[in-house]
Amino acid sequence: MLARYAAHDEATRGRRYPEAAPQYRSEYQRDRDRIVHASAFRRLVYKTQVFVNHEGDMYRTRLTHSMEVAQIGRSIALALNLNEALTEAICLAHDLGHTPFGHAGQDALNECMREYGGFEHNMQSLRVVDELEERYAEFPGLNLTFECREGILKHCSLANARTLGDIGERFIKRQQPGLEAQLANLADEIAYNNHDVDDGLRAGLIDMQELREVRIFARQLQAVEQRYPGVSGRRQVNEVVRRMINGIVVDVIESSAARIAAAAPESIDAVRAHGSALVEMSEAVHREHLELKQFLREKLYRHYRVQRMTRKARTVVSGLFSAFIDDVLLMPDEHREIARRFEAELGLAGRARAVADYVAGMTDRYAISEHDRIFVPAHRS
Ligand code: MG
Repeated sequence: MLARYAAHDEATRGRRYPEAAPQYRSEYQRDRDRIVHASAFRRLVYKTQVFVNHEGDMYRTRLTHSMEVAQIGRSIALALNLNEALTEAICLAHDLGHTPFGHAGQDALNECMREYGGFEHNMQSLRVVDELEERYAEFPGLNLTFECREGILKHCSLANARTLGDIGERFIKRQQPGLEAQLANLADEIAYNNHDVDDGLRAGLIDMQELREVRIFARQLQAVEQRYPGVSGRRQVNEVVRRMINGIVVDVIESSAARIAAAAPESIDAVRAHGSALVEMSEAVHREHLELKQFLREKLYRHYRVQRMTRKARTVVSGLFSAFIDDVLLMPDEHREIARRFEAELGLAGRARAVADYVAGMTDRYAISEHDRIFVPAHRS
């Protein structure tokens, strides 16, 4: 059933360290399974999406977010006859390099790393699967396929692309990744825009009245009110969000199928060489989706309570970074050793990279308690 332009095992560009083919699984199933067993994957459960982990148990974490992305990705992959296992692997791995405290944490760490090559969470996700995971005797990292790594590295600056060899090439040549990677990227957006509406309503930071101004929400709300006049509260919200996700997913499937049919790529390499992405929303839905994003930016991400969490995140991340870079003796033995090793090789930038790896790998709650252990005099060290 796999389309000729999907990712096929036989056509993989392979792994960095050659391995025998898996016995009872496909190459991409093996990728997915390695990701599920990674320690960075388990840590996603205590990493924030928008709401800091201790705000409550009802909100999305990066783990549940990644699972929702994978669900949406798999649905689209199956409908378009793309590789489901590869799509799932990319979706589950896409946020492995995320810092604690969501985007606030990543911005703070990027700021700290400005003189040392910067910090991008996409690059870090690739670094986690290529270098930082320690699970196999034969190689560092997870040794994933090229196609999976290509999907994980969604964006990257040109300067960084030049340091990445074959995986960075497409940013220099302005090529596309495979369709599974394109759709994982879109599934991420669909998932977070919709679940942030849900979490924002649940937290009381936005309300239904405001959301009536957003076309894509208003249309589904009207349909739900007409069909189920007696339904309100959580069931109403969930019915609306469910319909929004379904509407966008159906739109992506139909408009992508049309684009793919028109381009008629013969292989994944033809997809890569095509001038534009082939997995996309239609123009109309894309516009509505942007309107929803804009709404969330203004009403939710800039809400004073979210801004306060953002502020705290910055304090914790930059506090930890500067304490560790000033004095690597403050880091646990294992990380101190890595910092020394990187510094011997790359100077201060190496030390900074080791500190960034350590801080980025922390969960929200671990970062907060590390911060307390270092800066709060009465706290146990
Ligand atoms: Mg994401």
